[in-house]
Amino acid sequence: MGIFRKMRGAFHDDWCNLCQSEMDVMHKQLYAMPDVTVDHYVSHESADYYRKHLVPVEKKAQIPAGMYACGLHVYRCPKCGHRRTKLTTFLPVRDQEKIEEILFFDHGELDDFIYQSQTGSTDLKGNTQKRRQDCGDYKYSGPYDYV
Ligand SMILES: [Zn+2]
Repeated sequence: MGIFRKMRGAFHDDWCNLCQSEMDVMHKQLYAMPDVTVDHYVSHESADYYRKHLVPVEKKAQIPAGMYACGLHVYRCPKCGHRRTKLTTFLPVRDQEKIEEILFFDHGELDDFIYQSQTGSTDLKGNTQKRRQDCGDYKYSGPYDYV
């Protein structure tokens, strides 16, 4: 079983990169990338970029044709507690998703952004997001309070 587990760890996005356990999905969100359109994809690796350019949407149908989308998954390893945020950028083409890139953030780079998107009210028209002043709810219902 040992070797098999390691192989799976190498090829599965939802397996812990530290101990190869299957991780739990703590949070999922779909985003549109309004400034990235078909044939104009540019690779970005900095969390800052995504923080500034992702617009949360509820479903793929809300993303206009030719605009890139980005799926966000927050994983937590039940064994070692490691947290990992995965971003998958893709172009929705009819019923398919043409995956462009998969990025991992292992140090909570997007934590504040994820929280903001859960409570914000921005939309694709570019309305400004407002940060909540009180963090009370986050304390009790945030995705990271399971430890
Ligand atoms: Zn682990």
